[in-house]
Amino acid sequence: MGNKPERDYAVRHKQIINKLLEMVQHGGYGAVSVTRLATELGMDQRTVKAHLEIAEIDKAGVFIDHEKKEFCTKEGLILLADKLGIQATTPADMNTNYERIEKELRNKREVNMAKPKVAIYWCASCGGCEEAVVDLNEDILKVVEAVDIVLWPVALDFKRKDIEAMADGDIAVSFINGSVRLEEQEEMVKLLRQKSQLVVAFGSCAHLGGIPGLANFWSRETVFNRAYLETESTVNPGKTMPQEKVVVDGHELELPKFFDTVRALNQVIPVDYYLPGCAPPPDLIMNAVNAILTGKLPEKGAVLAPNIALCDTCPRKDSKPDKLSIKEFKRPWEIKVDPEKCFLVQGIFCYGPATRSGCGETCIKANQGCRGCFGPVDGVVDQGAKALSMMASMLGLEDEEKMSAEETKKLIDTLVDPAGTFYRFSLPVSLLKRKRIPGIGG
Ligand code: SF4
Ligand code: SF4
Ligand code: SF4
Repeated sequence: MGNKPERDYAVRHKQIINKLLEMVQHGGYGAVSVTRLATELGMDQRTVKAHLEIAEIDKAGVFIDHEKKEFCTKEGLILLADKLGIQATTPADMNTNYERIEKELRNKREVNMAKPKVAIYWCASCGGCEEAVVDLNEDILKVVEAVDIVLWPVALDFKRKDIEAMADGDIAVSFINGSVRLEEQEEMVKLLRQKSQLVVAFGSCAHLGGIPGLANFWSRETVFNRAYLETESTVNPGKTMPQEKVVVDGHELELPKFFDTVRALNQVIPVDYYLPGCAPPPDLIMNAVNAILTGKLPEKGAVLAPNIALCDTCPRKDSKPDKLSIKEFKRPWEIKVDPEKCFLVQGIFCYGPATRSGCGETCIKANQGCRGCFGPVDGVVDQGAKALSMMASMLGLEDEEKMSAEETKKLIDTLVDPAGTFYRFSLPVSLLKRKRIPGIGG
């Protein structure tokens, strides 16, 4: 080849053409903008244009400059005209038809590049799982680019009737967070199930029942009394309680039924996958989205997180002996917690042995014991029972026969709120499911 400037020119030319063809193929239709091409290449637009005006665009597509509304190659124009059935062979002819060509291209792109429809819905949720989506930061732009969000009550104004109008299976995937507590939530998740190819239980509440599921230790009446009459901040002199039907100015208003029992999502509809965590961390969310978009999904029913216990990935695992004897449990505020040592060794409750890994050991790194929000590993039927039996085996009861009943009780009592501790996230899916209260079904 000739001198260096010529070689540089040839290399640059090849780079531009290759990138153009790559983008045309990737975009699914025969047009890309100069601006975008220049940005992708890290070159200035003038250079890119200079090269394109002499480029021979092959059958991969045509080139169009959105800014100047000009077509840059004759060959490309003829190809485009042919594709669109437009009688035009010169740039001037094509520019006259610009609006139509733009529209045709957009339609073509919509057909070729139909994005998968995604719904995001919340049931009995604290809103943290919605925050988790926003916590994707700039990755959320990739998601928005790749999918078409058709329902997201916290952020977008789509209505139930919009979903009802869709064909069954039209939605590629519905991400549903929160547990099911209200009749309206039950109706919505059934509707989303009908319209969706895949349903993902997003977060601990949808996966296991979660924190709202702790209400299963009480009845609806107790919950209402506490919330509307008894809390220290409640001012309700008329003792007004929520009613399913109420007449205001001659109009009957309806509120959804409030169930006695909180349910996890799979106790209401079939669920395809589970994204664990309170709330699920951004990397797991992105992994799940990528797996769905690329079709690289595990078997139906899988929890989309590693199937190993948190202790196996915990940075403190080396300080945890094989056999532990806990003499008493302490609350974190009662001692100065060693930031390197296993919590259990320090007498602080940690759910790590009975919890699935994948959160990045978030709480541990913040010097807090795990609370079990990722749920159990595969095969464990009841996370709370598993943790209970594990703790019982670690409690220093080897001298049990020498201990009085009172001493044994005192030792056990050092673990405050055992039911709430062991079933913090999983009461609705446990074998117990809820506290037995006369007149209240499961
Ligand atoms: S899983 Fe946690 S963050 Fe998500 S809705 Fe339930 S309580 Fe909130
Ligand atoms: S019990 Fe908790 S602190 Fe100890 S190794 Fe397991 S996860 Fe880590
Ligand atoms: S450490 Fe435990 S409670 Fe904390 S985020 Fe991880 S799994 Fe959830």
